[in-house]
Amino acid sequence: MSEEKDSPPQSPPLGAMTPRRKPKPPIEEIGGRKLNPSTLMMGHGFDPVLSEGSIKPPIFLTSTFAFENAAAGKRHFEGITGKRPGGAEGLVYSRFNGPNQEILEDRLSVWDGAEDALVFSSGMTAICVLMLAHCGAGDVIVHSGPLYAASEGFVAKVLSKFGVTYIDFPAGAAREELDDVMAKAAAKAKEQGGKVAMVYLESPGNPTNALVDVEAVQAARDATFETDSPPIAIDNTFLGPLWQRPLEHGADIVVYSLTKYVGGHSDLVAGSVAGAKKWLDPIRSLRNTMGGICDPNTAWMLGRSLETLELRMNRAGENAKLVCAFLAKHPKVEGLGYLGMIDDPRQQDIFNRHCLGAGSTFSVFIKGGEAESFRFLDALKIAKLAVSLGGTETLASHPAAMTHLSVPDERKAALGITDNLVRISIGIEDPDDLIADFAQALEAV
Ligand SMILES: *Cc1c(COP(=O)(O)O)cnc(C)c1O
Repeated sequence: MSEEKDSPPQSPPLGAMTPRRKPKPPIEEIGGRKLNPSTLMMGHGFDPVLSEGSIKPPIFLTSTFAFENAAAGKRHFEGITGKRPGGAEGLVYSRFNGPNQEILEDRLSVWDGAEDALVFSSGMTAICVLMLAHCGAGDVIVHSGPLYAASEGFVAKVLSKFGVTYIDFPAGAAREELDDVMAKAAAKAKEQGGKVAMVYLESPGNPTNALVDVEAVQAARDATFETDSPPIAIDNTFLGPLWQRPLEHGADIVVYSLTKYVGGHSDLVAGSVAGAKKWLDPIRSLRNTMGGICDPNTAWMLGRSLETLELRMNRAGENAKLVCAFLAKHPKVEGLGYLGMIDDPRQQDIFNRHCLGAGSTFSVFIKGGEAESFRFLDALKIAKLAVSLGGTETLASHPAAMTHLSVPDERKAALGITDNLVRISIGIEDPDDLIADFAQALEAV
């Protein structure tokens, strides 16, 4: 006893101090001032004390987590199995959750003002698990068109095998058309013995940049469904999370391919959904069963990306504005599909109500056809010839011959995907260098 009294106080080994679980309550405001997401990205959801004082979260490469005691293990499994909604209170097994993924989910929720978020191994995994979790045999999905080709294919070719049908409407649809679509979907669901399970939107649509009026979709949904109201999910990959905040305009779930602007460096593939827990719980439960959670290394990289998200997106947006101002006046350019230069008053109205910026992904119509467009693409020196978007580097592609090659000709025509359409995603290079590159490539046409 006395010997112990005399010896210096022993601090417990750092890692053993407290189980990691909930870190210090996050600081979300100072003196009544709500902190901006770009400030919160440097620390939100991570307490260095729980990781040897490390300023950055370590990457937790482990498949399983030790429980404090048996009762804690039982409690965690009650969360995992859905006996208690809301997921596990502790870390259990890496198919269900992990520290890097939970930190990322907390930070993604901040950007969209969402109650919760879930991360996945790709944007398409997020979309497939979202739809599978909410749809059953006889159900109907109402969706805007066009969608990302794989999303459209999943609804039409995969969910149809399980008795789920769909009705689509053009992106720019106004209230009357939306009312009509909702009524048709409700009647179809009744006939099939199911429900309208989800309204799924993508705005702006690829590659035309057509915007969906989310407020009008919500109004039409609310006017049609008194009970069993379907959630509105929206793929916000092209403008989010900086330039469009759909949860504020009536959407319930926001979906991302984190591969694009959020990852932002063209060096990873991942996806997410965010929204109220009541919509996310069934998705989490199916992710627990199927897997498809983002891996710890990718989650860590995305945490790093989020620290510079606002800087990168703002720079890319400013660059796009300058490049488009140049292209719009060029004699070899027929027109632009850029949200900063909208012709249609209805689209402009949606933009004004929903968008905080015009983005950095747009279409340029080259005078001529495929041959002229290919000559332009082949002459580019800074911009790289590749699909995808939202990275630090400028990319250019030809949708009709690449991403949309398998789309039937009539549908291509209806969507405005012509042979002279070149898709461009502007990066964060020097804007004058980019303009010089586009100028010399147009010379080659
Ligand atoms: C890329 C993309 C997806 C698919 O995401 P992955 O991460 O490639 O699986 C879905 N929607 C949109 C709008 C996209 O651009």
